[in-house]
Amino acid sequence: MRIYLDNAATTSLDPLVLAAMSPFFESHFGNPSSIHASGREARTAVENARKTISKLLHCSPSEIFFTSGATEADNMALAGSIFSSGVRHIITSPIEHHAVLHTAEWWAKKGHVTLHLVQLDGKGHIDLTHLETLLAAHPQALVSLMHGNNEIGNMTDLKAVSLLSRKYKAYFHSDTVQTIGLYPLHLPQLDLDFVVGSAHKFHGPKGVGFIYIKGGIKLDAFIHGGSQERNMRGGTENVAGIVGLAKALEIAYSEMEQKRSAMAALKKFLCQRLMEEIPDVRFNGDCLSEAQSLAHIVSISTPEHDGNEMLLFNLDIEGISISGGSACTSGAAAGSHVLHEIGVPEERGAIRFSLSKYTTQEELEKTVQVLSRLFK
Ligand code: PLP
Repeated sequence: MRIYLDNAATTSLDPLVLAAMSPFFESHFGNPSSIHASGREARTAVENARKTISKLLHCSPSEIFFTSGATEADNMALAGSIFSSGVRHIITSPIEHHAVLHTAEWWAKKGHVTLHLVQLDGKGHIDLTHLETLLAAHPQALVSLMHGNNEIGNMTDLKAVSLLSRKYKAYFHSDTVQTIGLYPLHLPQLDLDFVVGSAHKFHGPKGVGFIYIKGGIKLDAFIHGGSQERNMRGGTENVAGIVGLAKALEIAYSEMEQKRSAMAALKKFLCQRLMEEIPDVRFNGDCLSEAQSLAHIVSISTPEHDGNEMLLFNLDIEGISISGGSACTSGAAAGSHVLHEIGVPEERGAIRFSLSKYTTQEELEKTVQVLSRLFK
């Protein structure tokens, strides 16, 4: 059996999710826009999914819009706030996911906004004082800061950012892809304007996600066409995917505390064993913090070594699926904008371990032993 430690890239589909989706590929194949019984059945499934998600996030069903995933949802938040809400400045960080960073860069290049990057502290956390300076200097801003970093696991204090954003009347978008289903999010208490999720990060299907848009914010259609998603996103809904998304989130919430603390304990074990076995191992970002680092991500940089370029390849040969910075980097730290921004030397190797509810201590121990062998 292969060892899978790339759950920040994607997770396996929970069999219960597959079972919930199945009828919508088979007998319940209606189009939710059709008015006959088959269509109404599909419409009910979509609206029930919306209700399930909104209940878990403590918001209204009318604030949830289904998308093809988080990349689309991030694009929707940024484009919507520029073209419908008069945003002229985007304040983000240099270690955001490319779904945000490249999108913001694109609109800045096209002259619609000015981009401002908030400084990071020594551990890669947002410098809130600098954020406030940027907010004070740039009215009509959108702040876009992720909740949990997908490469190094650093967590952002959403409430602190939301309070600052409100103080300066800025919109606040957070890419919550890595925390939805793993950490509770009470949206009214946190007071954000846009939040996004992607089903395949919490044992749901790929190609489906959602955006939360705070009530009262009116955006123009992101995809023009039919009147689906209350005129926000034309196109026949991915009914099976939406059903799977809601089921996956429901399961994630039902076992959240238990699974998260199990992952945190495994993470602690992994960090300990890495310190014992890998000479001069360094933990990237704030990985060793329990409060400010995701329970399922450990990012390390390995010592300078001839084998660094082939590190992930060699782990793959040994039956271990794992990534460097993000899903598509090689073994060297050079490939990741996040590791570059937090100052990880390019000569060092980089490995991101990302756990799931299915990860076991034996799998982690075996991985550490393989690594230890590779570095001897
Ligand atoms: N944002 C973050 C933080 C992610 O980790 C990912 C997935 O890699 C995305 C956005 C993109 O999500 P999707 O695959 O649903 O487009």
